[in-house]
Amino acid sequence: MPLWRADLHVHTTLSGCAEAEMIPPLLIARCQEQGLAIVGVLDHNSAGNCQAVIEAAEGSGVTVKPGLEVESRETVHLVCLFDVIEQALDLQQVVYEHLARFPSAGAARSFGMQMLLSKEGELVGYEDHALFAATDLPAAAVVEEARGRGGMVVGAHVERRAHGLLGVLGFVPEGLDLDGLEAGPRGLTDGRMASSDAHRLAEIGSRYTVFEAETAAIADLRECLRVGRFRAGMAL
Ligand SMILES: [Zn+2]
Ligand SMILES: [Zn+2]
Repeated sequence: MPLWRADLHVHTTLSGCAEAEMIPPLLIARCQEQGLAIVGVLDHNSAGNCQAVIEAAEGSGVTVKPGLEVESRETVHLVCLFDVIEQALDLQQVVYEHLARFPSAGAARSFGMQMLLSKEGELVGYEDHALFAATDLPAAAVVEEARGRGGMVVGAHVERRAHGLLGVLGFVPEGLDLDGLEAGPRGLTDGRMASSDAHRLAEIGSRYTVFEAETAAIADLRECLRVGRFRAGMAL
Protein backbone atom coordinates (compact mmCIF):
# COMPACT_ATOMS: atom_id res chain seq x y z
CA MET A 1 0.00 0.00 0.00
CA PRO A 2 1.28 3.52 -0.77
CA LEU A 3 2.99 5.57 1.94
CA TRP A 4 2.06 9.23 2.43
CA ARG A 5 4.36 11.51 4.37
CA ALA A 6 2.17 14.20 5.91
CA ASP A 7 2.48 17.26 8.09
CA LEU A 8 -1.14 17.90 9.03
CA HIS A 9 -0.71 21.05 11.11
CA VAL A 10 0.78 24.09 9.35
CA HIS A 11 -0.25 27.72 9.91
CA THR A 12 -0.23 30.73 7.57
CA THR A 13 -0.02 34.48 8.09
CA LEU A 14 -3.67 34.44 9.10
CA SER A 15 -2.55 33.28 12.54
CA GLY A 16 -1.30 36.37 14.33
CA CYS A 17 1.40 34.28 16.00
CA ALA A 18 2.81 32.98 12.67
CA GLU A 19 5.72 34.57 10.85
CA ALA A 20 5.10 36.78 7.81
CA GLU A 21 7.06 34.27 5.70
CA MET A 22 4.20 31.73 5.95
CA ILE A 23 2.81 32.63 2.53
CA PRO A 24 1.40 30.10 0.04
CA PRO A 25 4.30 29.75 -2.46
CA LEU A 26 7.01 29.56 0.22
CA LEU A 27 4.94 27.19 2.33
CA ILE A 28 4.49 24.78 -0.60
CA ALA A 29 8.15 25.06 -1.62
CA ARG A 30 9.15 24.06 1.89
CA CYS A 31 6.76 21.08 1.78
CA GLN A 32 8.45 19.94 -1.43
CA GLU A 33 11.91 20.30 0.13
CA GLN A 34 10.77 18.18 3.05
CA GLY A 35 9.34 15.48 0.79
CA LEU A 36 5.81 15.92 2.08
CA ALA A 37 3.02 14.36 0.02
CA ILE A 38 0.27 15.92 2.15
CA VAL A 39 0.07 19.14 4.12
CA GLY A 40 -2.75 20.18 6.42
CA VAL A 41 -3.16 23.94 6.23
CA LEU A 42 -5.15 25.62 8.94
CA ASP A 43 -5.24 28.71 11.11
CA HIS A 44 -6.73 29.44 14.48
CA ASN A 45 -10.51 29.29 14.02
CA SER A 46 -10.22 30.01 10.30
CA ALA A 47 -9.69 28.44 6.88
CA GLY A 48 -9.36 31.85 5.25
CA ASN A 49 -6.03 31.23 3.50
CA CYS A 50 -6.61 27.61 2.49
CA GLN A 51 -7.88 28.30 -1.02
CA ALA A 52 -4.79 30.41 -1.76
CA VAL A 53 -2.51 27.59 -0.61
CA ILE A 54 -4.47 25.01 -2.64
CA GLU A 55 -3.99 27.18 -5.73
CA ALA A 56 -0.30 27.68 -4.96
CA ALA A 57 0.09 23.89 -4.72
CA GLU A 58 -1.28 23.18 -8.20
CA GLY A 59 1.25 21.08 -10.10
CA SER A 60 3.56 20.81 -7.07
CA GLY A 61 2.76 17.21 -6.18
CA VAL A 62 1.74 18.31 -2.69
CA THR A 63 -1.86 17.59 -1.67
CA VAL A 64 -3.33 20.30 0.54
CA LYS A 65 -5.93 19.38 3.14
CA PRO A 66 -7.78 22.57 4.13
CA GLY A 67 -9.02 23.05 7.66
CA LEU A 68 -9.21 25.00 10.89
CA GLU A 69 -7.60 24.68 14.30
CA VAL A 70 -10.73 25.31 16.32
CA GLU A 71 -10.46 26.46 19.93
CA SER A 72 -13.30 24.97 21.92
CA ARG A 73 -15.08 26.53 24.88
CA GLU A 74 -12.74 24.55 27.16
CA THR A 75 -9.79 26.33 25.43
CA VAL A 76 -8.73 23.05 23.81
CA HIS A 77 -7.29 23.16 20.27
CA LEU A 78 -8.74 20.70 17.74
CA VAL A 79 -7.27 20.17 14.27
CA CYS A 80 -10.16 19.79 11.80
CA LEU A 81 -9.19 18.84 8.24
CA PHE A 82 -11.16 18.22 5.07
CA ASP A 83 -10.79 17.02 1.50
CA VAL A 84 -12.16 20.14 -0.18
CA ILE A 85 -12.29 23.83 0.60
CA GLU A 86 -16.09 24.02 0.61
CA GLN A 87 -16.25 21.70 3.62
CA ALA A 88 -13.68 23.76 5.51
CA LEU A 89 -15.42 27.06 4.73
CA ASP A 90 -18.72 25.55 5.81
CA LEU A 91 -17.25 24.75 9.24
CA GLN A 92 -15.64 28.19 9.31
CA GLN A 93 -19.09 29.73 8.97
CA VAL A 94 -20.26 27.83 12.05
CA VAL A 95 -17.11 28.75 13.98
CA TYR A 96 -17.46 32.45 13.10
CA GLU A 97 -20.98 32.41 14.52
CA HIS A 98 -19.45 31.33 17.82
CA LEU A 99 -16.50 33.70 17.88
CA ALA A 100 -16.10 37.34 18.92
CA ARG A 101 -15.58 39.93 16.23
CA PHE A 102 -13.61 43.17 16.40
CA PRO A 103 -15.47 46.40 15.69
CA SER A 104 -13.08 47.06 12.82
CA ALA A 105 -10.22 45.43 10.96
CA GLY A 106 -8.00 48.15 12.40
CA ALA A 107 -8.84 47.08 15.93
CA ALA A 108 -8.12 43.48 14.96
CA ARG A 109 -4.67 44.45 13.68
CA SER A 110 -3.65 45.67 17.11
CA PHE A 111 -3.86 42.04 18.25
CA GLY A 112 -1.60 40.74 15.49
CA MET A 113 -1.74 40.77 11.75
CA GLN A 114 -4.40 38.34 10.62
CA MET A 115 -3.42 38.56 6.97
CA LEU A 116 -5.50 37.10 4.14
CA LEU A 117 -3.37 36.36 1.08
CA SER A 118 -3.56 35.58 -2.62
CA LYS A 119 -1.94 32.42 -4.00
CA GLU A 120 1.12 34.53 -4.82
CA GLY A 121 1.32 35.64 -1.20
CA GLU A 122 0.08 39.19 -1.70
CA LEU A 123 -1.98 40.81 1.03
CA VAL A 124 -5.67 40.91 0.09
CA GLY A 125 -7.18 41.84 3.47
CA TYR A 126 -7.33 41.38 7.23
CA GLU A 127 -9.67 39.06 9.10
CA ASP A 128 -11.69 40.86 11.76
CA HIS A 129 -12.82 37.90 13.85
CA ALA A 130 -10.84 37.39 17.05
CA LEU A 131 -9.14 34.25 15.74
CA PHE A 132 -6.89 33.83 18.79
CA ALA A 133 -9.88 33.58 21.15
CA ALA A 134 -11.94 30.58 22.23
CA THR A 135 -15.24 29.85 20.53
CA ASP A 136 -18.19 29.06 22.77
CA LEU A 137 -18.56 25.62 21.15
CA PRO A 138 -17.91 22.66 23.46
CA ALA A 139 -15.26 20.25 22.13
CA ALA A 140 -17.90 17.60 21.47
CA ALA A 141 -19.83 20.06 19.32
CA VAL A 142 -16.70 20.93 17.32
CA VAL A 143 -16.16 17.22 16.62
CA GLU A 144 -19.78 16.80 15.60
CA GLU A 145 -19.81 19.85 13.31
CA ALA A 146 -16.54 18.86 11.61
CA ARG A 147 -17.42 15.20 11.26
CA GLY A 148 -20.82 16.07 9.85
CA ARG A 149 -19.01 17.86 7.04
CA GLY A 150 -16.72 14.94 6.24
CA GLY A 151 -13.80 16.10 8.35
CA MET A 152 -11.25 14.40 10.56
CA VAL A 153 -10.62 15.77 14.05
CA VAL A 154 -7.40 15.39 16.00
CA GLY A 155 -6.51 16.74 19.43
CA ALA A 156 -3.70 19.25 18.81
CA HIS A 157 -0.40 19.17 20.80
CA VAL A 158 -2.30 17.25 23.47
CA GLU A 159 0.37 17.37 26.17
CA ARG A 160 0.75 21.15 26.06
CA ARG A 161 -0.51 22.88 29.18
CA ALA A 162 -1.95 25.71 27.15
CA HIS A 163 -4.63 24.51 24.73
CA GLY A 164 -3.66 20.81 24.73
CA LEU A 165 -6.50 18.40 25.50
CA LEU A 166 -4.53 16.49 28.15
CA GLY A 167 -2.77 19.62 29.38
CA VAL A 168 -6.05 21.44 29.97
CA LEU A 169 -8.43 18.65 31.00
CA GLY A 170 -5.97 15.95 32.06
CA PHE A 171 -7.87 13.23 30.20
CA VAL A 172 -9.78 12.50 27.02
CA PRO A 173 -13.45 12.90 27.93
CA GLU A 174 -15.48 9.76 27.47
CA GLY A 175 -17.54 10.03 24.33
CA LEU A 176 -15.29 12.63 22.68
CA ASP A 177 -14.98 10.90 19.33
CA LEU A 178 -11.57 12.07 18.10
CA ASP A 179 -9.78 10.42 15.18
CA GLY A 180 -6.43 10.75 16.89
CA LEU A 181 -4.14 12.65 19.22
CA GLU A 182 -1.19 14.73 18.09
CA ALA A 183 1.95 14.29 20.18
CA GLY A 184 3.57 17.40 21.46
CA PRO A 185 4.87 19.85 22.08
CA ARG A 186 8.14 17.92 22.50
CA GLY A 187 9.10 14.49 21.32
CA LEU A 188 6.93 11.64 20.16
CA THR A 189 4.55 9.47 22.13
CA ASP A 190 3.58 5.90 21.32
CA GLY A 191 0.25 5.62 19.57
CA ARG A 192 0.06 9.32 18.74
CA MET A 193 0.49 10.95 15.37
CA ALA A 194 2.86 13.89 14.97
CA SER A 195 2.69 17.20 13.13
CA SER A 196 4.86 20.29 13.27
CA ASP A 197 2.32 22.99 14.27
CA ALA A 198 4.60 25.13 12.12
CA HIS A 199 4.46 28.88 12.57
CA ARG A 200 7.75 29.35 10.68
CA LEU A 201 8.90 27.85 7.36
CA ALA A 202 11.81 26.01 8.97
CA GLU A 203 9.39 24.10 11.21
CA ILE A 204 7.36 22.58 8.35
CA GLY A 205 7.90 18.83 8.26
CA SER A 206 9.99 18.82 11.44
CA ARG A 207 7.41 16.45 12.92
CA TYR A 208 5.38 14.33 10.54
CA THR A 209 3.28 11.22 10.16
CA VAL A 210 3.62 8.58 7.46
CA PHE A 211 0.27 7.04 6.59
CA GLU A 212 -0.07 3.69 4.84
CA ALA A 213 -3.22 4.19 2.81
CA GLU A 214 -4.73 3.51 -0.59
CA THR A 215 -5.34 7.22 -1.19
CA ALA A 216 -4.75 10.55 0.51
CA ALA A 217 -8.48 10.99 1.14
CA ILE A 218 -9.52 12.08 4.63
CA ALA A 219 -11.56 8.89 5.03
CA ASP A 220 -8.42 6.79 4.41
CA LEU A 221 -6.27 8.89 6.77
CA ARG A 222 -8.93 8.55 9.47
CA GLU A 223 -8.93 4.80 9.00
CA CYS A 224 -5.12 4.72 9.37
CA LEU A 225 -5.37 6.59 12.67
CA ARG A 226 -8.14 4.34 13.88
CA VAL A 227 -6.30 1.08 13.21
CA GLY A 228 -2.78 2.37 13.90
CA ARG A 229 -1.51 2.10 10.32
CA PHE A 230 0.83 5.07 10.59
CA ARG A 231 4.25 6.00 11.89
CA ALA A 232 5.14 9.31 13.55
CA GLY A 233 8.57 10.81 13.04
CA MET A 234 10.81 13.79 13.68
CA ALA A 235 13.22 15.25 11.13
CA LEU A 236 16.66 16.06 12.49
ZN1 LIG B 1 -2.75 25.00 18.91
ZN1 LIG C 1 -1.49 25.21 15.66
